[in-house]
Amino acid sequence: MTATDTPLQQPRIAWQTGRVQAIVAETSRVKSIILQPANWSGHWPGQHVDIRLTADDGYQAERSYSIASPPEEELLTLTVERVEDGEVSSYLLDELRVGDALEFRGPIGRHFIWSQTRGGPICLVAGGTGITPLMAMLRHRRRSLAPIPASLIYSARSLADVVYRDELDTMAHGDRELRLVYALTREHPSDWDGHRGRVNEALLAESSFTREQNPTFFICGPTGFVEGISSMLVKLGFDPLAIRTERFGPTGA
Ligand SMILES: Cc1cc2nc3c(=O)[nH]c(=O)nc-3n(C[C@H](O)[C@H](O)[C@H](O)COP(=O)(O)OP(=O)(O)OC[C@H]3O[C@@H](n4cnc5c(N)ncnc54)[C@H](O)[C@@H]3O)c2cc1C
Repeated sequence: MTATDTPLQQPRIAWQTGRVQAIVAETSRVKSIILQPANWSGHWPGQHVDIRLTADDGYQAERSYSIASPPEEELLTLTVERVEDGEVSSYLLDELRVGDALEFRGPIGRHFIWSQTRGGPICLVAGGTGITPLMAMLRHRRRSLAPIPASLIYSARSLADVVYRDELDTMAHGDRELRLVYALTREHPSDWDGHRGRVNEALLAESSFTREQNPTFFICGPTGFVEGISSMLVKLGFDPLAIRTERFGPTGA
């Protein structure tokens, strides 16, 4: 599948094994795992994989992880945040080593995808590690010939918690069609002139696009975050059908 194909009905997806090629520390709580799949026919930015761990006694645990790499790359990047006492995230962050085999299946998901052939503008709103599938979209967008108008509003606890910060800053630098806005909820540098606190209606109104520009929104993060942002956008008068959401988990930002 390439990014220009039309998504087809998804066949049953088989489990396969990927080899861990590299593990990159992104922040103190987040690492990226770079996987070489045994068999991969491509994915759409926004899709995810399921990972399955099997213990010696046969006990299995499965969790979903979004793909952060764009379809143009051969290796798959998954970016995992530590969840306190988390069964699978703890294993992936503390036990997994380069060279290990990891069982997974994918790509999965049809509702939260974007490719450059769909055009823009797009407004991406991330809460914490919800940046992961949005990063696949931005990495894919960067490869397009004509820059598609986009904005990213990224809510993180502090600058140190911003995943892919250098890459995002580099991407936005010199790209007049990409607007990058960080909202820091807990700590910010004393000279921080960006947004302080949670994403609110005013920030959404000034950092996204106008209703007349018909943006498509992609919102990803903890469940409470996603629901809060969606309601604000609807209140601001944006078309509910243009709001796509992906919920990562039960807690708020
Ligand atoms: C479509 C999809 C894509 C996802 N993509 C990513 C991704 O790219 N990166 C990533 O880090 N996670 C992602 N997740 C979340 C991931 O699937 C796991 O839920 C998460 O890693 C926690 O699993 P665990 O086994 O470590 O925790 P568990 O053992 O399942 O839970 C331990 C405790 O943490 C709570 N908890 C569970 N999940 C979360 C969560 N997400 N946030 C906060 N508290 C939680 C539980 O209620 C429980 O109290 C995604 C989820 C979905 C549905």
